[in-house]
Amino acid sequence: MFRKDRIPWNKGLTKETDERVAKCSKPHSKKWNEKISKAKKGRAFSVKHKKNISISCKGKLSHRKGITLEEEYGIEKAKEIKQKISIRAKKVMNRPEVKKKCGWSKGLTKETDLRVKHQGDSRKGRVPHNKGLTFEKEYGIDEANKLKQQISDSMKKAFENDPSLYEKSRSGRKGKESPMKGKQRSPETKEKIKKALANLDPDVKRRKIEAISGERNHNWRGGISNRPYGYKFKKLKKKILQRDDYICQFCFITNKEHKEKVGDSLHCHHIDYDRQNCEENNLITLCSSCNASVNFNRKYWTNYFQTLLSVVDEEIYLMELC
Ligand SMILES: [Zn+2]
Repeated sequence: MFRKDRIPWNKGLTKETDERVAKCSKPHSKKWNEKISKAKKGRAFSVKHKKNISISCKGKLSHRKGITLEEEYGIEKAKEIKQKISIRAKKVMNRPEVKKKCGWSKGLTKETDLRVKHQGDSRKGRVPHNKGLTFEKEYGIDEANKLKQQISDSMKKAFENDPSLYEKSRSGRKGKESPMKGKQRSPETKEKIKKALANLDPDVKRRKIEAISGERNHNWRGGISNRPYGYKFKKLKKKILQRDDYICQFCFITNKEHKEKVGDSLHCHHIDYDRQNCEENNLITLCSSCNASVNFNRKYWTNYFQTLLSVVDEEIYLMELC
């Protein structure tokens, strides 16, 4: 059929060198584009044609699979596009024939919609597959590290794209009152927490303690409490207890009652929390429970006891004058 020495007309032509390809890849003129768009507008596909399209598209990946609008067009352009989409969607939803179709859920709320209830019921009592599991336990250490890195990377990317997101995530509860403020946990809840803490992974426990101990603690005063007591302290303590009539200066429990209750004599509290500072005006008699409760809110209590002592001093001075 073919002559042996005949050379096909397109031999050696590639995408780059074929003139026909170059012709086709030229962009259409404006007029031509308008013509196409006009012809396409309002065109309804037949059911058969729609099916054909669906079959031919099956298994094909969209060119922007996994890419967000922000990544493809930049943040500002993406915002514009989203606005356009939302306007168009609203327009479509307002068409009478669409409204009729979509009206089936009108007036339904979270409480009255059966689908919501059904979804809730189907999840009730189900234990999540990863309950109580850490990434390390579920996937092994190597895989867990990989997953954590992935999560961290994706968060970083999201924060880079939208810096306000970072602020939001940080300031979620900042400045807001704790939901537990003023409330007390029930004894059952306390028991539950105790049990959960006792069953905690020792590694996690250690990390939790490390996170709030030493210099990281808000009450850290530069390691004052680790220093030994001043050596004349025993003598001094007796003197202070005598000065305060052997009575807790906050709840007025006596030394006798305290010994019966706790099995120990009253404590001598350092007002400025520096155990080396054993001036008499820095020491005050407190019972063990008052001494413990004074460990929080330290600034307030320092101020409180200092003024208390100065008031007592003044009274004594005035009495001596009389
Ligand atoms: Zn007391």
